[in-house]
Amino acid sequence: MHNPHTKNRSFWIETYGCQMNKAETTFVERELGLAGWTQDDSSRDADLVILNTCSVRSTAEQRIIGRLGYYKTLKKEHTFDLAVMGCMAERMKEELVDIEPSIDFVIGNFQKGTFVRYLTGGSPEKYVSEDSRTFVFPDTYGNETSFRALVPVMHGCDNFCSYCIVPYVRGREVSRNCSHISDEVGSLSIKGVKEITLLGQNVNSYRFSEGGIEITFPQLLKKLTLQDTYVPWIRFLTSHPKDFSSELIDVIAGNNVVCKHIHLPVQHGSNEILNRMNRKYTREHYLQLISNIRKRIPDVSLTTDILIGFPGETEKDIALTMDLMKEVRFQDAFTYYFNPIEGTAAYTMSGRIPHDEQIKRLSKIIELQHNITGEIQRSRIGRKEKVLVESLSKKSVKEVLGRTERNEMVVFTGDSSCIGEFRTVELMSYSGNTFRAEEVA
Ligand code: SF4
Repeated sequence: MHNPHTKNRSFWIETYGCQMNKAETTFVERELGLAGWTQDDSSRDADLVILNTCSVRSTAEQRIIGRLGYYKTLKKEHTFDLAVMGCMAERMKEELVDIEPSIDFVIGNFQKGTFVRYLTGGSPEKYVSEDSRTFVFPDTYGNETSFRALVPVMHGCDNFCSYCIVPYVRGREVSRNCSHISDEVGSLSIKGVKEITLLGQNVNSYRFSEGGIEITFPQLLKKLTLQDTYVPWIRFLTSHPKDFSSELIDVIAGNNVVCKHIHLPVQHGSNEILNRMNRKYTREHYLQLISNIRKRIPDVSLTTDILIGFPGETEKDIALTMDLMKEVRFQDAFTYYFNPIEGTAAYTMSGRIPHDEQIKRLSKIIELQHNITGEIQRSRIGRKEKVLVESLSKKSVKEVLGRTERNEMVVFTGDSSCIGEFRTVELMSYSGNTFRAEEVA
């Protein structure tokens, strides 16, 4: 095994999956930096390669297995340590090393915080194990190097949706200390961060007791918008329809800091399937919630997740889902087919839908959403919007790419000096999921 205690050590991290993984990668990068490691610009020369993995679907894990094969070959060319971190490490533990013996470390979700200290202070073993599965938030995620930051507020989930591995690999819900969140947001604001996204598997069930008073998610959100050192745009991910309260709707409606974009995964339009998914709400509840949101926030952008081809799904269930989509008219939807991970309740459910049929049904859903998105976006041409510029456009260095608070992509004339700045633009045309716009004074 490579000696990780040498000087001038460098690392390379590949991150897969959700925003929480991205936030945790930032934290690990920071910890490695504090311990004297430098970030390499390629895995080909790094002394330590970390794969921060995802187990959301079996295709996600297959992709990681493919990358492990690549790194096994790379080990023949130069010496480095290979670490697998995150949900797949938590789910498979030592089994991963049986599959790929060239792995040097397996770091579960509860060891991400201590791994770096371990690496610099202890004698490395294959699996960094701790008895406790208690999740401890770091004081800071240290992500103030960009104009945009991810701020975890919760970890884990108590909901046990039948297709989801999260409660098993990230454990039960833990809410982060409210003052620590507030301090982190304050420090991000002072450093000039323009947008933060508050993260949790189900942010709506945030609860933290401070001085005998329980603080809920809407109260946390309100507090962050009112503090002196606030960040101009706040987003949050992800919400569960059963926990989305009218108090939260009021907070979003009542200020200009929380972006008017709500991602509210419906997953399906059939009560039968929602029940098999253990989602704990009905389509009627969901539609009522959407109606309540639209009454209070008329210009809101609503996006969703839709899971197609769940065991037992019929053509009637698909028709119900399409009806719901037509009624809600989501601005966009992340659509995917059932592709389960071992260890979830749905993995062993009867009534599996053949893959070809899943793809056929998914195509219908994608086409419908594509049409709805196009209609909504074309109706917005001529609007003036504030955008946060995030990069140069891929097609031209004379153009920049930004996002509106509704999370719409906009391209307009500009240069790198605009990156990280707000600009006001007029939306001129729409194609390929992106608006073309002109800057206005
Ligand atoms: S709410 Fe359901 S889908 Fe979301 S993380 Fe929890 S168990 Fe998974």
